[in-house]
Amino acid sequence: GIDIDGITKNFGRTEVLRRVDLDIRAGEFMTLVGPSGCGKSTLLRIVAGLELQSSGSVRIADTPVDSLRPRDRDLAMVFQSYALYPHLTVGENIAVPLRMRRLKGHQRWPYLGAFMPGARGIERAIAAEVEAVAAMLDIGHLLARKPGQLSGGQRQRVALGRAMVRHPKAFLMDEPLSNLDAKLRVHMRAEIAQLHRRLGTTFIYVTHDQAEAMTMSDRIAVMMDGAVLQVASPDTVYNDPTDIRVAEFIGSPK
Ligand code: ATP
Ligand code: MG
Repeated sequence: GIDIDGITKNFGRTEVLRRVDLDIRAGEFMTLVGPSGCGKSTLLRIVAGLELQSSGSVRIADTPVDSLRPRDRDLAMVFQSYALYPHLTVGENIAVPLRMRRLKGHQRWPYLGAFMPGARGIERAIAAEVEAVAAMLDIGHLLARKPGQLSGGQRQRVALGRAMVRHPKAFLMDEPLSNLDAKLRVHMRAEIAQLHRRLGTTFIYVTHDQAEAMTMSDRIAVMMDGAVLQVASPDTVYNDPTDIRVAEFIGSPK
């Protein structure tokens, strides 16, 4: 799991996170919700190592990661701007983390479940791994296209595929669907939830969309003004909010 322990963050004299404690269980789908500016992205960026906390610590799988660089934390991030390489095909985009790992000497083929030694074997393994992931995401027919020739939802899947091949300890997603139209958003929501069930990996998902939070999550952390007010199942947050501000934000019946 991921243990967030007493995280405080100041930007200048403004305290945007106030001693946030949050324990995310291994394999859990945890959603951070709350109004704009409450500190969701900042908290996620601190977990990812993209932002340094003012105090407190983060442990991933019982290992303190505060001194680790982002790439050494073994996390995959999907943000609302997909940042695909425009000059590479879909297949090459998905293969990027596999090639980087190959250069680093690590070889794991989680979706392929096999290892073929030798340089040509590695190329074949990368291709097969990319195809396996693309098939899971239903983009197998798009591997030769460039990102500019894809719809928003297809691009989103490519970004997911690129995150998946890293076989990370956890997926961190910050409003990954906010650029999509409403219909596609609902569809991709279900896809991501299904992906979570299939992979069994820990997810931290940030959204200010209550419906998204309610449908996808094992638990929800409701944040307001730099603090976590309640952490519970969607059902409990909705039916049994511990704070009037939670009730108002979630729209609980009175
Ligand atoms: P949204 O839903 O709008 O994305 P959020 O909950 O993700 O909001 P954050 O981006 O974490 O909010 O920002 C939390 C607070 O910290 C905000 O008041 C924001 O203005 C402030 N903030 C974020 N980044 C910086 C920065 N680099 N310098 C100064 N203030 C910052
Ligand atoms: Mg944000």
